[in-house]
Amino acid sequence: MINKSAFTKQPGEEEHGMVIPSGYPELDAWVETINEARPITFGYPTNNNMDMTDFYEWFFANGLYKAMLNNAGDPFAGTGGYALSSSNFEHEVIEWFAPYYGFEANNIWGLVTMSGTDGNNHGIFFGTKYLRKKTGKMPILYVSDEAHYSNYRLADLQNLEARIIKSDIYGRMIPEELEKALDTTRPCLIIYAMGSTFKGSIDDQKALNAVLAKYPEMEVYRHVDAALFGGFLPFGEFADKISHEELGYQSIAVSSHKFFSIDSPSGLFICEREIYDAQTDFNVIYLNNNMRMINCSRSAIEPLKFWWMIKKKGYEGWRAEAMQISAMTFYLIYSLKKIKWPVWYNECSNTVLFKRPSQHIVEKYSLSAGYDERLGGELAHIVVMQHVLRKGIDRFIEDLKKEQTK
Ligand SMILES: *Cc1c(COP(=O)(O)O)cnc(C)c1O
Repeated sequence: MINKSAFTKQPGEEEHGMVIPSGYPELDAWVETINEARPITFGYPTNNNMDMTDFYEWFFANGLYKAMLNNAGDPFAGTGGYALSSSNFEHEVIEWFAPYYGFEANNIWGLVTMSGTDGNNHGIFFGTKYLRKKTGKMPILYVSDEAHYSNYRLADLQNLEARIIKSDIYGRMIPEELEKALDTTRPCLIIYAMGSTFKGSIDDQKALNAVLAKYPEMEVYRHVDAALFGGFLPFGEFADKISHEELGYQSIAVSSHKFFSIDSPSGLFICEREIYDAQTDFNVIYLNNNMRMINCSRSAIEPLKFWWMIKKKGYEGWRAEAMQISAMTFYLIYSLKKIKWPVWYNECSNTVLFKRPSQHIVEKYSLSAGYDERLGGELAHIVVMQHVLRKGIDRFIEDLKKEQTK
């Protein structure tokens, strides 16, 4: 579907202003490089047109920076213990998001994490504990070769046997390859990629679940790594692609410094209540309940920023941004096709793959590089986030054209 807004309104294309001196020349020079790079940093899934100004004004006006705010403790166990906590707001953030991922309001547990990786760490940890409790056996972790590297890293950290499953040309885990790799005598902890890192592909959960359903004796735990796509999918045309109700996964991790535009690493982890209940008790008298999650001290500020964003933007605001991203993705694909530059993309995705240009252009736009024989070898991608706007895309296309005529 062609989205007409690709060619009309373009907020946020303003130029940056002068550097305000800090008294430290090396800092001032650094600010300048950041301001120059910000609007054309295209290869990574972060929004570089964030605006937390009103939050910071409120925060400083009230002297909140004087306190060591800390959300150590379980956000679902009420306050208690450390008084300088924002855990009630953290709880509200999880409750606000859960229905958008298709969870039932009274059947959840979750927290605001330190990152997408921290959310995956909880998914893998909780999944392992849950499956061991049920079967007495260690699970095998299955994940595709296109998924984010953190999943392999975390399997190693948690001493799990991991089986890396081949993906197809679009980057989706191949159901037949999963079936070949299965050891049905051990429980299965499967990670589904929703927005694989390089190709922006979505594992076909229904097809993969159908493979797993052939072995009813095998216990299964499904964790969804939706660090990037978990941001915009619930607010766009493809909300059912991420619905827990529709797909039946047990937990999901999303980064909040990607689509949600929180300006420091953080994320969401949400799971079914039953999964939380199956975790090992860990009673710590000076905290508010038994501590089943991984970390002790956790940020109190990221949940506040998130809560602020929910009030300020909410569903409508994020929906408008999801629509803008999809329009700009279309515009980028259209512009590349127009100059006959080889380009590939997946459905529902804001990640656009294309033949890798010169190193100069790769560096100028912070493109990230990849490689796939099946797509002609050297590739690069742009992740179309909120700051990737028509003006920047046009500038990028002009640079590619110069390279074509050389
Ligand atoms: C970004 C990303 C991660 C890692 O998330 P962080 O928040 O950077 O730790 C994991 N998986 C996917 C699919 C990602 O896009």
